[in-house]
This record gives sequence, structure tokens and C-alpha cells, in this order.
Amino acid sequence: MAPVPASVEGRLDLAATMAGAFDGIVALDVRGTVRALDAEAAALFGYALDEVIGQDFEMLTPESDRSYRDDLHPGTPSLRRRIDGLRKDGSIFPMELCVSEVVCDRESLFISLIRDLSQRRRFEQGVYELQANRLDLIENMAAGLAHELKQPLTAIGAYLNFARRQLKEKSPSVEKVAELLDNADAQVFRISEIMDNLRQFIARGETTKTPQHLNAVIRTACEFTDALARQHSIKTTVDLAALPDMVVINKVQIQQVVVNLKRNAVEAMQNCERREMRVSTRLIDGNLIRADVADTGPGLPEEVKARLFGQFTTTKPHGLGVGLSISRSIIEAHKGKIWAEPNPGGGVVFSFVLPLADN
Ligand code: ADP
Repeated sequence: MAPVPASVEGRLDLAATMAGAFDGIVALDVRGTVRALDAEAAALFGYALDEVIGQDFEMLTPESDRSYRDDLHPGTPSLRRRIDGLRKDGSIFPMELCVSEVVCDRESLFISLIRDLSQRRRFEQGVYELQANRLDLIENMAAGLAHELKQPLTAIGAYLNFARRQLKEKSPSVEKVAELLDNADAQVFRISEIMDNLRQFIARGETTKTPQHLNAVIRTACEFTDALARQHSIKTTVDLAALPDMVVINKVQIQQVVVNLKRNAVEAMQNCERREMRVSTRLIDGNLIRADVADTGPGLPEEVKARLFGQFTTTKPHGLGVGLSISRSIIEAHKGKIWAEPNPGGGVVFSFVLPLADN
């Protein structure tokens, strides 16, 4: 077996540091041979590393589920697949593979990030039990952490991927690569903000609230999701003009709410012809400021309406169903309200109000 190129090993290290977002990582070649894997992946399947390296990935999947082979073609775009995994002891478990091609020394390798979905189910079950006792913000935040980190991590992966591709061009643009790395860096910063916030929250039993201009806070949150909206050819209008807009908030949490609402809007409009999103603020009587995220998607599915802001309400195949419930906890912890209404002309408007700071 050819030695694993050093650059792949480096990437395995990188993936291993990805805050536990995945349970393991395996690198396959076009024939489906396992060329490298990390200790977590080996443990997931109950093997020692050297029992798997050089073997066909088939040994890790039941006979009935070998569809991953379709993904091992050079030029295949990155994709996600749910298949069954087969452990050494013969037991079968559901897993999700995120497969991306990398070219190392002119050879295509397929980096597969593995998530053990049975673990996720156990995690969700644990959260359910917590919920039965005491449902408050910290439990919600714990349940949502994976959810919140997923978006910046996916974005970092994409930026690094683009940068790598750019470097492989005949005449790579240094400016373009620098810009992509800056973008990745901004997302790393965002993750560290989320983590700092959580740490503070646990340490002090509360989150720090400071006076902030809501329009500026929302504008920054919009920047986090700009790339996602563009990628889905969504026309975004931002009208953040309400004044005064001073609120006493935890900035990162309120940004999380806006990111959640925008991401939902983007996902809802994926298959729509008309794809328009409008983010706006306005003043409301009673010293309140209101923010709206309006989309032109299909509207709320009937089955989620009754418990839209409840935990684990989802109609998405990969959804966790925690985004809106976390958003509600956050807004309520700020003495605000959040709700959804049909958008006249089609789609949904998600709105929240927050009290303005006293002058
Ligand atoms: P998730 O996004 O993981 O499903 P959420 O709590 O954010 O979890 O959303 C719950 C459900 O609410 C979604 O699965 C979807 O069915 C519905 N939903 C949320 N936002 C929208 C929207 N803008 N348009 C239509 N449906 C939506």
C-alpha cells in the first residue's frame, strides 16, 4: 500500500480538532481502500488502527448498504450520506458520512467525516430527560451547541477547500487565497466567541449583557450568513434603520437568533423560484424595537405550526429541531418575544421584539 501523503495526515489532525463535530475520519482512495483513519474512527467500529488501514471500506458497512461506493469518483462534489456502519462485533449502527475529495500527489482521496447517529440519538434522549426536570437556557444552549458550531465549521471547511482549489490553479491568485483565509479566520473568531460566551455563562450562571446598537448587531449577523444566501441565489434586502436602537443584550446570543432565522429562511427557499429575504427593524409602541426576517418560501408546514418553538420540532432530514427553541429561550431571557406569521404574498416572517435601553 502506498504511504499516506503527509498532507492527508495533516488534514486528519485538523479534523480531529474540530470540536467533536464528528466522531471520526477516514480517508479512502478511488478503489474504496482505507488509506488512513483516526483513532476515533477505529474505536467507533471496534477495530485497532492497523486492522483497518489497507482494507476495503466494505468491512465497515453491512452488505446491504454499500452505496458509499458511488461517491468515490474524481470530481464528485462534497456530499453527505446516511448509511449503516458495521462494527467488528457484528452490530450495526446508523452513521452519516460527509465525503469531500482532495487531490494529493495527483491522486484522488476521499475524506469522509463520520458522525455516529446512534450517539446523537442518545444525546437527544439525554436532553429530553433534562427537559423533563428543568428546561432552562443552559440546557438549551448545551443541546444547541453542536447546532451553532456546525455552520461556522462548515463555512471554514468550504473556505479552506476553495483556497486549496485556488492554489491548484495554473496561476493562483494570492489575493483570492488571502481573502478566503480571512473569511475562514472570521469564522474561527465566531466559534471562539460562541465558546467564550458559553464559558462565561457557565462560570457566572448568566451571560454578560451590554448596551449595543441592535442594527449593527444584526448587520454583523447578516454578514455571517451572506455567503450561504448567495450560494443559494437568494436576494437579500437589509433595511436596518430603526432609531433609537440601543438595547442591553448579549450580542452573541442575539446574533445566534438572527443567524438561526436567516438559515431557516435560506433552507425554506431552496426549491422555490422566488427567493427573497428581507431583514429589517422598526420601532414599536411601548419602547420596543422589532426585528423581522421575512422570506418568500413555502410557508410553515402544517405539522410544525402548533409546536414551532418547541424542542426537536423539525421537518428536515438532517435537522436537529433546536434552532427555534434556543432562539425563543434567548429572546425570552432578554424580556422579549418571538413569533412567526405568514408573509403576505407567500412565505413566513419571523419577528422578535426587545425592550429599548432606557436613555
Ligand atoms: P431545524 O432547522 O433543525 O429543523 P428549527 O427549530 O430551526 O430546527 O426549525 C423547526 C422547523 O420549523 C423546521 O424544520 C421547518 O419545518 C420550520 N421552519 C422554520 N423556519 C421556517 C421558514 N422560514 N419557512 C418554513 N418553515 C420553517
